[in-house]
Amino acid sequence: MTSALHPARVVSGLGDAATDGHAPAAHALHVLDLDPRTYARALDCVHCGLCLPACPTYTETGLEADSPRGRIMLMKGMADGQIEASDSVLEHLDLCLDCRACETACPSGVVYHELIEETRARLNTARPKGFTDRVVEAMFLHVFTHPLRLKLALLPARLLQKFGLWRGITESRLSRSLPPQLDKMQTMLPNRGPMWEKPLDEFYPAQAPDGVRKARVAFLAGCVGSVLFQHVNRMTIRLLQHAGCDVIVPRSQVCCGAIHHHAGRVDDAMNFARLNIDALTPKDGPVDFVVNNISGCGAMLKDYAHLLRDDPAYGPRAAAFTQKTRDISQMLVELKPAMPQHALDRTVTYHDACHLAHGQKVTAAPRELLSWIKGLKVVPLRESDMCCGAAGTYNLTQPAMARDLAERKVHHIEATGTRVCVTGNVGCAMQIQSEADRLGVELHVAHPVALLHEAYFGEAG
Ligand code: SF4
Ligand code: SF4
Repeated sequence: MTSALHPARVVSGLGDAATDGHAPAAHALHVLDLDPRTYARALDCVHCGLCLPACPTYTETGLEADSPRGRIMLMKGMADGQIEASDSVLEHLDLCLDCRACETACPSGVVYHELIEETRARLNTARPKGFTDRVVEAMFLHVFTHPLRLKLALLPARLLQKFGLWRGITESRLSRSLPPQLDKMQTMLPNRGPMWEKPLDEFYPAQAPDGVRKARVAFLAGCVGSVLFQHVNRMTIRLLQHAGCDVIVPRSQVCCGAIHHHAGRVDDAMNFARLNIDALTPKDGPVDFVVNNISGCGAMLKDYAHLLRDDPAYGPRAAAFTQKTRDISQMLVELKPAMPQHALDRTVTYHDACHLAHGQKVTAAPRELLSWIKGLKVVPLRESDMCCGAAGTYNLTQPAMARDLAERKVHHIEATGTRVCVTGNVGCAMQIQSEADRLGVELHVAHPVALLHEAYFGEAG
């Protein structure tokens, strides 16, 4: 049993990854310089192994070095100067999805993501990158995180879609000759959407049927969300209005910072956090809550307190911001609006997005929203809280593992017999939909907001 391993045996179970100290180190890092508070996270691990079955990469490879326990030992060993940052060690750390399933499973409360994220931040500065990796990283950091630039970048693809030429191009030899990361990007582009999405208004007044105004909320529209999923944003705002909220959507809001944070650019992420705290919790118009409908962004917003904990000016404001942040499912459940009246006679299944289920510990609220809908049947999904392989930019940087996990997810969905999968994260939606399309599985992936909107207003999103 792996769970009975003694720490010393765990290290030996790491095989080449841990004993690679005599191989030439690929990188200039000799001792991993972790913040003592982060290092203490590794000491919380008692090596019980209870997290192993929850870890997607361990489940796929069966290697200790691809498990949470193994990775903690690798990071601690690097911080202690006992393990070199060899290519082999880095590959096992790179393969981690940062899905945080291990945190949910861990009885000792190990806050794993702080360890892996700080480790990556330290390592990224010391590692050389290939040309394609630099291009993809630049696209993510400088295009995907700016809605206007993203709209401009997608304009040619939208034009080709409008004239029915997109499918031909994506299935052509030209497409297949693209680097795998770019080819994956084009397969994930939703095949519907307007040429040029209008920005949201800055203010939407409460419109509850009983006239009661319950809260003033700020809405984070998201970078990719506001370009590719603006229809979901509009439905989210309408549901908030109907539940009695005044909704502000400040134009000064920026990317949540998750992409920068996961790329190890902590200073950039901190700057985004400060700008969003100013924009979404304005001093001259206080809000009761900050609402989002993308779980990856939501987990980042809730991490602002940690990110800015040493900032004397923003630390206390970041703590208050985190307290006010809600996923749309949490917010609607708290607001307790009147129940929707339109019945939806269909069967769906629900996939727990990692950054909602594990990052924010929100699993009951989305299911409760679905239970409000008359006629809707929700069938259980096997391994519903196991990562689909999207994980931010993971499906581009680790395409093989991402595809294995996506295929596993689609097969489980197919086994439920449903044709609709509901999930609260655009990254998961694009990943699962593109994998289903690749496998020829008939499937529609929907945000819970879309079903709820249809149940309230009788209009499909
Ligand atoms: S974050 Fe996910 S992939 Fe990484 S060690 Fe934890 S469970 Fe495994
Ligand atoms: S991370 Fe938690 S569950 Fe996993 S081995 Fe350590 S103590 Fe056990």
